[in-house]
Amino acid sequence: MTTPDHATTAPTHPLLRGSDEVAALPAAEKIALTGGRDFWYTHGAPSLGLEAVMTSDGPHGLRTQKADADHLGLHDSVPATCFPPAVGLSASWSRETAAAVAAAIAEEAIAEGVSVVLGPGMNIKRSPLCGRNFEYFSEDPHLAGEMAVAYVNGMQDRGVGTSVKHFALNNQETDRIRVDVSVDERTLHEIYLRAFRAVVTRAQPWTIMCSYNSVLGTLVSQNPFLLSEVLREQWGFEGLVVSDWGAVVDRPAAVAAGLDLQMPADPGAEQALAAALEAGEIDPAHVDRAATKVVELLRRSAAVRSEGATYDVDAHHQVALEAARRAIVLLRNEDQLLPLDPETAAEGALAVIGDFAATPRYQGAGSSHVNAHRLSTALDAIRESAGDVPFARGFVPGGAASSTEDDVLRAEAVELARSAGTVVLFLGLGEDVESEGYDRTDMDLPAAQERLLEEVLAANPRTVVVLSNGSAIRLSETLRSAPAVLEAWLLGQAGGEATADVLFGRVAPSGKLAETIPLRLEDVPATPYFPGEHGRVTYGEGLFVGYRGLDARGTEVAFPFGHGLSYTTFEYADLAVSARDGGLVAELTVTNTGSREGREVVQAYVSVPGSSIARAPRELKGFADVTLAPGASARVTVEMPEAELQYWDVRAGQWAVEGGTYRVEIGASSRDLRLEAEAELAGTEPRIEASFSTTPLELAAIPGGAEALHDLAGHLPFFQDPEMAKMFEQIPVGRLTGFGGFSREQIQEFLDRVNAL
Ligand code: BGC
Repeated sequence: MTTPDHATTAPTHPLLRGSDEVAALPAAEKIALTGGRDFWYTHGAPSLGLEAVMTSDGPHGLRTQKADADHLGLHDSVPATCFPPAVGLSASWSRETAAAVAAAIAEEAIAEGVSVVLGPGMNIKRSPLCGRNFEYFSEDPHLAGEMAVAYVNGMQDRGVGTSVKHFALNNQETDRIRVDVSVDERTLHEIYLRAFRAVVTRAQPWTIMCSYNSVLGTLVSQNPFLLSEVLREQWGFEGLVVSDWGAVVDRPAAVAAGLDLQMPADPGAEQALAAALEAGEIDPAHVDRAATKVVELLRRSAAVRSEGATYDVDAHHQVALEAARRAIVLLRNEDQLLPLDPETAAEGALAVIGDFAATPRYQGAGSSHVNAHRLSTALDAIRESAGDVPFARGFVPGGAASSTEDDVLRAEAVELARSAGTVVLFLGLGEDVESEGYDRTDMDLPAAQERLLEEVLAANPRTVVVLSNGSAIRLSETLRSAPAVLEAWLLGQAGGEATADVLFGRVAPSGKLAETIPLRLEDVPATPYFPGEHGRVTYGEGLFVGYRGLDARGTEVAFPFGHGLSYTTFEYADLAVSARDGGLVAELTVTNTGSREGREVVQAYVSVPGSSIARAPRELKGFADVTLAPGASARVTVEMPEAELQYWDVRAGQWAVEGGTYRVEIGASSRDLRLEAEAELAGTEPRIEASFSTTPLELAAIPGGAEALHDLAGHLPFFQDPEMAKMFEQIPVGRLTGFGGFSREQIQEFLDRVNAL
């Protein structure tokens, strides 16, 4: 058995220590608490009169299994409301919507006796190919963090715990159990840990689920740096770390590293922990800490247990519907083809094509799969509004069809398209290509659907395309030429009604892209490195994930991060940006200049002109939404808190805000920037201690350093020549001994003088 070095050392940080009450429990009871009783339940603590608690997937609705337990959604679970998966929820850019969905799931959890819901999933979408992107929020850590904070608070305010997952660097499904991730320090903190930090510091999730993979050679489940140092010591995490199901290889090593609860049950692991304690291979304080966290969870859960609780299935369907309406993104709408007029449609002018209209693709596959209470189809909802609209399947999803079958379906569909005034064509990806457990191999729509699209568009140019997919797809030139395109992602059980509401204009679309739609897979910054090989992956694109990298290289995209149209128009004016509490605040006036009500998501992108560190051209640091009647204006405030402006200073190993001028660009997308203003921030960068390895350039940046340097340089002839000085300014001062006749003592004296300033 391998144990980390500190396994036998007593932890010093208060959040890494257990309670006296738990320390006094019998060893067997403590050991039992560190693992599951079965597939979904923890153990109880009989000596403390505390019952076991039940956990259940998943992020967009409950997957409570009463029997035949499995963790990949293979067996049916009890019926529950299926809300839009994270891909749809985050396209709403609405904290309020995330909180409302989470609160409704919490009510269902209480009714089913579930104490901890295993979600939200909040890994960064590094590549569109990740099979589980539908369960994650965004390619951007600010948006992912905001949605997760709202979700966790929304659920925990109702007394049900969350399990934010999968901590950390689980950004692919290929080899997810084994893969070892190499990532540089800034990228780790600024991109992949930032959203987790936000949720820990602002919402204190009851639990965090550690991922399967390794990071820099150490399994996350046995990683003291991530589970103890970062989570507890740096961020102050007070809750419990649970393993992903089956992520623990060595329970003693995991418990010593900071893991509290191994799931599911593993009797062999209990024996191993008992033996390690017996042999003095693990400090008992680690076991006390783990057992204490579980006891705290049992207590919290006992306080809200409510026998016989029920919930309003219809009301929850409405919550799912409202979320789905906000999730739909209008990508394109030439000549205002949308919204459609239900009356004209009712006169036989409309045709619906595409299998997904009748058999919706509304959630992803795997452990998050919900057994939905009900399911609305877009076809039924369209017919509800516009009468008996004709329909043709057009294709068989999932590549199950023979090409002859697809040919027949396509011919029927094209025939129908030719006879209609307007066509609504439903296209998308099947569950077979988007699932937990494996990644996609390309970003394309199935060939049969591309062909159908070409022929339908040729037969009827008035074609509206509605897309259902859990992660960005490549929009072919033909698709981009369709006059109207709705990206409907995966919308949950009420998606059909929501789609009809948007098509007929009962609701103006207001979703925005939470992930870029690139032109080609090759353009995605992570593509050359994804998914790695031989059990290893290097995050070679570093900080430049998604739009950050695309903007840095000036790459054209199909639709940029943050894009989304409405049926009305908005004007932005009168921007004022100021510094507040270490961060920035933008205020501007938004006016609805169109003729109908609409919701606009205002986005604030920040850059630091002349920054001394590598940065993307701009980064999302704040957003706010506002709903306005036609002609109405409102003053909108967008906050960009200090924590969001920080970068990870590798010299000091801590977060810092660079001092200087900050540019704030306000946009309706990351490439539709409409206003800009600047403000100064003093910054919080730690003072650099001058040493032999400090360069003259760095010395000049220390207050008073430039003057001191001037004195020193006065003695060095080469500093008198500007070109030579430029060369020498990057030579560590300790190396100047060879050039100017300085002794080390003289340089030390000089350094002491600078450090005393
Ligand atoms: C998934 C988790 C899930 C767990 C329990 C794992 O395979 O990665 O997200 O919560 O199973 O079903």
